[in-house]
Amino acid sequence: MEYRRLGKSGLRVSALSFGAWVTFGTQLNVDEALAIMTAAYDRGCNFFDNAEVYAQGQAETIMGEALKKSGWRRDSYTVSSKVFGGSIPKPSPIQRGLSRKHIYEACYQAIERLQCDYLDLYFCHRPDQKVPMEEIVRTMTELIQRGDVLYWGTSEWSAQELMEAHSVARQYGLIPPTMEQPEYNMFHRYRFENEYARLYNPDILGLGTTIWSPLASGLLTGKYNDGIPEDSRMNLPGYEWLRDMLTSEEGQKRVAKVKELAKVAEELNTSMPKMALAWCLKNPNVSTVITGASKVSQVEENFEALDLVPQLTDDVMETIEGILDNKQTRLHGAN
Ligand code: NDP
Repeated sequence: MEYRRLGKSGLRVSALSFGAWVTFGTQLNVDEALAIMTAAYDRGCNFFDNAEVYAQGQAETIMGEALKKSGWRRDSYTVSSKVFGGSIPKPSPIQRGLSRKHIYEACYQAIERLQCDYLDLYFCHRPDQKVPMEEIVRTMTELIQRGDVLYWGTSEWSAQELMEAHSVARQYGLIPPTMEQPEYNMFHRYRFENEYARLYNPDILGLGTTIWSPLASGLLTGKYNDGIPEDSRMNLPGYEWLRDMLTSEEGQKRVAKVKELAKVAEELNTSMPKMALAWCLKNPNVSTVITGASKVSQVEENFEALDLVPQLTDDVMETIEGILDNKQTRLHGAN
């Protein structure tokens, strides 16, 4: 495993990490979750990602139980949560968002569900224009000062919102966000590569990144090249929107590209999942790639991606670039 600094912070996260979205509480029970987390942990993973909204708190409860059962030392891994969407069906306006009240309550509820004394990383899962930036930055600073959170960050905030958070922190002597959690994969690049480009510079923000959906929910594994396998994410109830995305004109164009990319992977004597993950890892502005998996065998395969990075030479990257043909394009349709 390779360990990368989370932006300007002193925390070194494993370049490949593991998250609970979709799988925990929907596809996996505690024992299955523990088996998958163990496969990741044994390969050097030191970051497990979660959120209050995942399976309405169930994903955190399962991860908490799995961590307790694992017997791992608390100082050998980091665990996160994210606040914004609420953890109950149809939350009222004070049970979601980024008000001081909801951030505090969501933090303590996550700590309880995860059965840990503090959250290593805590993210504002989306921006909230209805809450003053000072209230958000001050609340996160207080949580850090109380020892309930070690590092705070954002997810899918615009570059402008990140700059504003830093400027408010400077103005009031508060703690600015350390990291962002954006979507980044071969099909979704604009924000990470263009909008945030200056923010990685340590003299600007020194932004750390924990990127999500590196396989575009599995599309980049090639498993959807000939339809939708029965035991796959896109066949799950509640994920019709993913299926619709796949069958759309844009989705079908992406499938055609995956078929082309698969030939490059074959030439490299590797698999599509490994190549797509290695492509993300190759970007030095990525602090950690949060992987997802519904099976231990997927973790075993995905965590070999680091070995492939040196094989992604300039020539190979150029070939991939030629197939993707999306370097500067702003693409929509992310969740
Ligand atoms: P991916 O895009 O990598 O998709 C993971 C899914 O792809 C797996 O659950 C599995 O689904 C399939 N898969 C993975 N590896 C393989 C393989 N080797 N072969 C075949 N199929 C494979 O990541 P996620 O979308 O799960 O995102 C990762 C994490 O990022 C989340 O768990 C969460 O922590 C975070 N995230 C954050 C968001 C945010 O807004 N901040 C939003 C979304 C995710 P299956 O087997 O069921 O088909």
